[in-house]
Amino acid sequence: MERMTAEKRVEELRNLLNQYNYEYHVLDRPSVPDAEYDQLMRELTQIEEQFHDLITTDSPTQRVGGEVLSAFEKVEHRIPMLSLGNAFNEADLRDFDRRVKQAVGEEVEYVCELKIDGLAISLRYENGLFIQGATRGDGTIGEDITTNLKTIRSIPLRLKQEFSIEVRGEAYMPKKSFEKLNLTKEENGEEPFANPRNAAAGSLRQLDSRIAASRNLDTFLYAIGDFSETGVSTHSDGLDLLENLGFKVNKEREKCANIDEVLQYVQKWVEKRPNLPYEIDGIVIKVNSLDQQKELGFTAKSPRWAIAYKFPAEEVVTKLLDIELSVGRTGVITPTAILEPVRVAGTKVQRASLHNEDLIREKDIKLGDYVVIKKAGDIIPEVVNVLVERRTGEEQEFLMPSHCPECNSDLVRLEGEVALRCINPKCPAQIREGLIHFVSRNAMNIDGLGEKVISQLFSHQLIHDVADIYHLQKDQLLELERMGEKSVNNLLAAIQQSKSNSLEKLLFGLGIRHVGAKAAKTLAQQFGNMDVLISATRDELTSIQDIGEKMADSIVAYFENEEARQLIDELKQAGLNMSYNGPMPVQAESMTSVLAGKTVVLTGKLEQLNRNEAKEKLEALGANVTGSVSKKTDLVIAGADAGSKLAKANELGIEVWDEEKMLEEFNR
Ligand SMILES: [Zn+2]
Repeated sequence: MERMTAEKRVEELRNLLNQYNYEYHVLDRPSVPDAEYDQLMRELTQIEEQFHDLITTDSPTQRVGGEVLSAFEKVEHRIPMLSLGNAFNEADLRDFDRRVKQAVGEEVEYVCELKIDGLAISLRYENGLFIQGATRGDGTIGEDITTNLKTIRSIPLRLKQEFSIEVRGEAYMPKKSFEKLNLTKEENGEEPFANPRNAAAGSLRQLDSRIAASRNLDTFLYAIGDFSETGVSTHSDGLDLLENLGFKVNKEREKCANIDEVLQYVQKWVEKRPNLPYEIDGIVIKVNSLDQQKELGFTAKSPRWAIAYKFPAEEVVTKLLDIELSVGRTGVITPTAILEPVRVAGTKVQRASLHNEDLIREKDIKLGDYVVIKKAGDIIPEVVNVLVERRTGEEQEFLMPSHCPECNSDLVRLEGEVALRCINPKCPAQIREGLIHFVSRNAMNIDGLGEKVISQLFSHQLIHDVADIYHLQKDQLLELERMGEKSVNNLLAAIQQSKSNSLEKLLFGLGIRHVGAKAAKTLAQQFGNMDVLISATRDELTSIQDIGEKMADSIVAYFENEEARQLIDELKQAGLNMSYNGPMPVQAESMTSVLAGKTVVLTGKLEQLNRNEAKEKLEALGANVTGSVSKKTDLVIAGADAGSKLAKANELGIEVWDEEKMLEEFNR
């Protein structure tokens, strides 16, 4: 091809492809079949391969990704990207309206927009060409993610006018793409993303832009960094301008003449929210007039002319199909609600823990009930209540079984506990859960040995106890589902590395009753190595702060068990480190206060400080503040009207201070 012809054709192809791309990804109105688009794209790629100098930054061929960075450069935002103040209810919104009207002294028109749950981005264009895209970061400094943003088809590489402008918006992952991505992740045995926002952020922070390109991200733009150069006088005109320049702007925006209209808009979207193809987490309300915005100005953190209304935790109704029982590491039987799959706060939910039998009775949950589900802290699904009025009479009472669902042993309810337990030490479910606990993060932290792999190894009888993990062979692992050469090598390396873990990780991993991660660390620090700990007596154990009698009994019983000692020998032989490698705790002697290292109980009413302040100060001086008086208590601080605790301290001959004396010590 002649160079002249090529030049002309490249220009034609680029214009066509950019136009088709815009119609498809921004307007959502494709005008040509995909095959035709692909054909033109191939032609352009071929010509560009022949004439490299004809490649421009705004060529559609430059979107595909492929560039791999070693790190993201920092970008300073010329105009800080501030966050918005929040409103949680009608009263907050009316307060906002009152403040705004008071400040400007006249009626105010608002613009309401959906608050997209994605990642805030800033895009810079010079003479109409996309030159840089960044994350919000801390609002002042973000990260340069230009190559990843270029892969998003709704971001124009060239504007319809030769503007130099900085625009802001949200990059997000549509619900459909999110579900597909998580499905693939689950099939690959990977941890799924918690919600579309995390998925979008994770995709844009990939150093390999091919990954971002594969994630089907989209955008909505909603602000211009500096309006003053654009000639518009209202926020809504600014949004129209963005649209005319070729950006994707959300269609659901609305002008509201007053706060009542704003509240109607909010209410409308509380109801319509589940039907949107993308996640929103609230409504953004802005003063429309830019002059009024200027008058209102900013606080240190956010503009006074805008506010974000946050939706309450989403609650949805679904049907409870069944209650499944699982056996935990300690034999506790946990009932889990199996639900008709339903979307809650961004993810599909089909299970919710019911914790124990009492909770099922308390909430009067029956099989076949319609139940209200929400996510506690937007993460963990829980059953809020039953819709009794929707019962048909077909619902069935749920009865806890009398036998372990895995090993069929009798279940028992230990005194003072709400849970039912399987107490068969050979229960396969308990052993499997124990293995999962052993490799977990706070224990031996073996990457690549997740729940699924452990379950497979266990059911293939490749492991029976934790020591077997250290005898796994490469060829055994290669036989497992979805375990390639690379993941097997990584796993073996992780197992090898875990051998040098400090003692507390092993101690916690063994799953000794009542010994949590914190107690494991205390034990490791105090005894230094496994052999010393094994031979520790009950008295030696209880003399340590934070080690109670129940825990001491449990530790002694554990190490008296022949099988446990054998297991530890096997682990030693496998080459596991049995010593504490971490830093030693600050010794009480090195502190200057007489309170350092003392176990202190606060009781009665304090005059000068509240209970929490006193506790914090005592702890800052090295004291350990506990709730009840015992032989281990060194000192009782008694305020006014001290009762039984003071009496007990006197009975045990424990030193007692009044508040005055404590304050003197604080001020020393
Ligand atoms: Zn069992």
